[in-house]
Amino acid sequence: MSLLILGGTGEGNELARALAGRDVVNSLAGRTGHLPQVPGRMRMGGFGGVAGLVDYLRTEDISAIIDATHPFAARMAAHAAEACAIVGIPRLKLLRPEWARTPGDRWTEADNMAQAVDILPNLGRRAFLTIGIQELAHFVSLPDMSFLVRLLSPAPLPASCHAIIGRPPFCEADEVAAMRGHGIEALVTKHSGGNSTYAKIAAARALGLPVLMIRRPPPPPGPVVTSVAEAVAWAATHLGDPSPFVLPPPS
Ligand code: NAP
Repeated sequence: MSLLILGGTGEGNELARALAGRDVVNSLAGRTGHLPQVPGRMRMGGFGGVAGLVDYLRTEDISAIIDATHPFAARMAAHAAEACAIVGIPRLKLLRPEWARTPGDRWTEADNMAQAVDILPNLGRRAFLTIGIQELAHFVSLPDMSFLVRLLSPAPLPASCHAIIGRPPFCEADEVAAMRGHGIEALVTKHSGGNSTYAKIAAARALGLPVLMIRRPPPPPGPVVTSVAEAVAWAATHLGDPSPFVLPPPS
């Protein structure tokens, strides 16, 4: 009974650690070149769409999928749902909770990147973009604006952008220093949730800055859990292994 974890997130890694000793395959898109130290088999790279994933599930005799990809990895989530329906195996979406708004937060929510581009000039002219390199093109051509852009690794950027390189987790003091140092007037972020990137939200609150919060795409229909513990319990029923699972402390 093999379980496929679609990962690339802290939750995916935590789940793999909790399932150590079970027959688990960890799958990563492989964009960052970062290889997490987790137990189980590892594979990297796209499957080749729904058809490729269906082939993979059959060839590897996968009996269940836990989709622990990022809340904004909508394409992978949709492919997993479709492929599992075709092959006839169960799938669970592990979706971390959204951040909660607290007093002092100045959030404006946008349904998608295009709406965020329309709203941003009303919030400030110097924006901190923490949305990943794939989405930058939406913003960088906005006139009379400049951007602080956080990237995982150096990349060529338009003249309107200044890059800082960093990998989560981040701390609030560093985020405050970066926003102050670059004269930031607004923060743009996906509503990712999770602890490792929350510091920028706290920093914006501390500095009284507006946050442009891009809403998540809805997950595909089907079961959703919000914690690794619930995902482990689901795996226990679908792996047909009655021995107890031990949850490590969250990393
Ligand atoms: P996406 O748009 O939903 O996926 C695009 C394609 O990448 C998929 O169709 C699939 O290619 C491949 N892919 C994605 N996740 C994969 C996985 N775990 N294993 C194998 N192939 C995968 O996803 P994305 O937004 O590019 O994110 C890629 C990865 O980075 C995900 O694993 C996600 O958890 C992680 N991540 C994303 C974000 C974000 O903001 N989007 C942030 C942090 C981490 P094929 O169609 O060829 O199978």
